Amino acid sequence: MASKISTIGFDADDTLWHNERFFRLTQDRFAELLSDYTNSDHLADRLLAAEKRNIGRYGYGIKGFTLSMIETAIEVTEERVPARVIQELIAAGQDMLAHPIELLPHAQATVEAVADTHRVVLITKGDLLDQERKLAQSGLGDLFDGVEIVSEKTPEVYVDIFARHGDGATQGMMIGNSMRSDVVPMIEAGGWGIYVPHGLVWEIEHAAEPTGARRYREIADLGGVAELLEQIEHA
Ligand SMILES: [Mg+2]
Repeated sequence: MASKISTIGFDADDTLWHNERFFRLTQDRFAELLSDYTNSDHLADRLLAAEKRNIGRYGYGIKGFTLSMIETAIEVTEERVPARVIQELIAAGQDMLAHPIELLPHAQATVEAVADTHRVVLITKGDLLDQERKLAQSGLGDLFDGVEIVSEKTPEVYVDIFARHGDGATQGMMIGNSMRSDVVPMIEAGGWGIYVPHGLVWEIEHAAEPTGARRYREIADLGGVAELLEQIEHA
């Protein structure tokens, strides 16, 4: 049965542009800087635990990640980490905040095409300033009818956003690389959840695939959006 979609939400990090790979590179640098103090497997676990602990305090993004690296460095060295290493960790975080964005394949053409036919909204977590910077740098900013930088992506958040930018979540579609943040809560909100795997996924963003859900789809990359819309709206 055909279903009319009025508003399409796009996730930003690792959906429109690369993100996780810069976190991985910085994590490697972190391990290198602390290699004299601890082994790296253990270190990765400790860092992840700190990130999880701190999400409720700092939210998602590079600033919180940097603070978590510093906290972990102090912990694993039993407060012996030299100030020089802390300085390098701060510099590594600042490098991430200055890193030029790299659009993913089909991102620009897809958002351009969809913006002609639907309302489009960028929906992302992360640091406000950093996400604004990346959006400005992406050149895609003018294509979006709305930009929502939120602290968490829950069903309630999607209900609210799609009500304000269209005809509600039931006539909305969310496209993103995180099963836990982009797909599952959007389906719970009554909308379409479209999974576009990126390959690198932050451990915190994993969730079980909602295989039985009628409004769940997976596409290999953003080049599949046009055909998907055709199927859903003109079936
Ligand atoms: Mg993402």
